[in-house]
Amino acid sequence: MKILVINSGSSSIKFELFDMPAENRLARGILQRIGEPGSQLTCSIGEVRTRLDQPIATHEQGLGLIVEILTDPARGGIDDDARIDAIGHRVVHGGESFSETALITGEVERAIEANSALAPLHNPPNLMGIRVARRLFPGVPQVAVFDTAFHQTMPEHAYLYPVPLELYDSLKVRRYGFHGTSHRFVTMQAAGFLERPIAETNLITCHLGNGCSMAAVRGGRSIDTSMGLTPLEGLMMGTRSGDIDPALVVFLHNARKLSIAEIDTLLNKQSGLLGVSGVSNDVRTLLEAEAAGNERAARALDIYCYRVRKYIGAYTAALGTVHAVVFTAGVGENSPAIRERVLEGLGPLGYYLDHEANTTAVGRLADISTPDSPARILVVPTDEELLIARDTYRIAAR
Ligand code: ADP
Repeated sequence: MKILVINSGSSSIKFELFDMPAENRLARGILQRIGEPGSQLTCSIGEVRTRLDQPIATHEQGLGLIVEILTDPARGGIDDDARIDAIGHRVVHGGESFSETALITGEVERAIEANSALAPLHNPPNLMGIRVARRLFPGVPQVAVFDTAFHQTMPEHAYLYPVPLELYDSLKVRRYGFHGTSHRFVTMQAAGFLERPIAETNLITCHLGNGCSMAAVRGGRSIDTSMGLTPLEGLMMGTRSGDIDPALVVFLHNARKLSIAEIDTLLNKQSGLLGVSGVSNDVRTLLEAEAAGNERAARALDIYCYRVRKYIGAYTAALGTVHAVVFTAGVGENSPAIRERVLEGLGPLGYYLDHEANTTAVGRLADISTPDSPARILVVPTDEELLIARDTYRIAAR
């Protein structure tokens, strides 16, 4: 069964084609700058790479072009578009409507639309991808995999904010959490690696990429996570502040006369590693700058690592017993230096890093704890697209 996985953003479409259940990746690519100058599609199908620079005005035109390439034998594509058997969509916000992956029906579409108020930048383009795909592939099953779904198992004391309860009742103001597909994928991988039944596995999962979030996972279910109503809360990120005193918004409004929109931009796009370092939002660049003596890069990385440590402490308390701390995503998978800084001195909590194992564990599944560490410390590469393909296959093959 050929399964196309789509992540439709406001001006881009990322896609990947899988052969399931073999889990072979047949193709992957990205179409960028839809409706802007310099639209570009890059794609690799097996060994054949394609790059097209041509104006692409709409998502419809873009997805049409993607399908054309995926089905063009001259570009290494499959030779018949009827052979795309199902489509899996990444959808950012499922609100309280979805605690698991769903076959897309009219009702599901309406629920995604209803949740757009909670993710105005993400759900509308996700929905556009779904509608365009339905027009291009009538009758082909489409499946929605939600970033929020994995965290719907959080207990009320973890998801409610201590603000007037009426705001939850009327506006659904609460913690939702994101990166759920990644936290769920690494949870399954880690339980398998540890040879433990997932229902008896407690983990702290650290997704450290451009966006960063952590989850406390009890018995394979999320019981807390660091992102909240929006992906701004929690850890320090590339350009997002993470946790701050919410009164900062009022303070900036008064002290600098900044508008709400300006403060939103400041906290989401000009803060985090970029805002503190003034150098970059990229951890690799900052590690290099720090090594070259850049003091602001060092300060940014210190704050970044300290905040991950604090959440490890908090989630250790939330879980009681922790079988493993899991590092994933760009930074978590590839940076021994950051992992070392995060975990330094956490022995009393049960986390002992094997420095040599840590150094060599780059981009691969590995246990980087000492044999006598009470809890394991694991590096687990994430693969959100594969999990979307698996979910889509499970639902479409029914
Ligand atoms: P996204 O959230 O966009 O998917 P990624 O998961 O790819 O992002 O993570 C991007 C981050 O990973 C960047 O900060 C990048 O510097 C970092 N990263 C990737 N490789 C390394 C590495 N070898 N050492 C340190 N950081 C790395």
